[in-house]
Amino acid sequence: MSHSESTDLRELLDLFADYVSSGYRNERRVRRRAAAPHAASGRRPERPLAARPAPANAPTAAAANASVVPTPATTPTAVPASDRQRERTREERRAALSELEAEVRACAACPLHTGRTHAVPGVGVLDPLVMVIGEGPGAEEDARGEPFVGAAGRYLDKWLEAIGLSRAENVYITNIVKCRPPNNRDPLPNESDACAPFLARQVDLVRPRTILTVGRIATSLLLHRDEGIGKLRGRPWEHQGIPVVPTYHPSGVLRNDAWRRPVWEDLKRLRAILDGE
Ligand code: SF4
Repeated sequence: MSHSESTDLRELLDLFADYVSSGYRNERRVRRRAAAPHAASGRRPERPLAARPAPANAPTAAAANASVVPTPATTPTAVPASDRQRERTREERRAALSELEAEVRACAACPLHTGRTHAVPGVGVLDPLVMVIGEGPGAEEDARGEPFVGAAGRYLDKWLEAIGLSRAENVYITNIVKCRPPNNRDPLPNESDACAPFLARQVDLVRPRTILTVGRIATSLLLHRDEGIGKLRGRPWEHQGIPVVPTYHPSGVLRNDAWRRPVWEDLKRLRAILDGE
């Protein structure tokens, strides 16, 4: 028996043992995609998201309500060049992510800071199997300072569970803009542009294996495409060398049963990418 046949047989036996013991494939056997651009070096290219600088008229801390906006106010910055030139340890990345979260909470770079109760930087683990990206915090997220904690968030947790993932163990969740747009309107271009450097740094620090964008806004802003989510989902995309799977937003699916099947197809595709298929 050749080496590759013997490896295949061993993997098949492992898979069978997983299904017998737990009903699902163990994460330890999830394989990286051989075709991933960063596979050869073992390290993903550290390019920031394409983002325009914060608008010149970005509000300052002095203009903000002091009871709402912590001081000193900050504005998002791109990944520092010095950080891009060297490999950082996991602890250094964890510390840098904490610093980024503090910057987000003090940020006054766009008008959304004036209406927030809490900024919502993101939550989850380093090196997750998937980074979920939505468009922005809703009312419950704004009240609690955590992303996806309302009905849509609970529904999202069920999606993740259905493909063997959990936000506590192998997921990182964030949004395009970190402060709630009034009345849950779509973020304006100046708002998403001002906030883009934060997301770029999160991707760089968190290093997700895959990205799941939920909803039209998050998908079109990340991929820089104008089509609706119905046209963008179901096709292979990449962002900074990371596979991107777009799907509908959980809150939209809660209102539209017809989107349940396509979402399930997207989730299965995400699982297949993680399994190296
Ligand atoms: S949405 Fe982003 S850029 Fe605007 S104030 Fe909040 S953290 Fe800053």
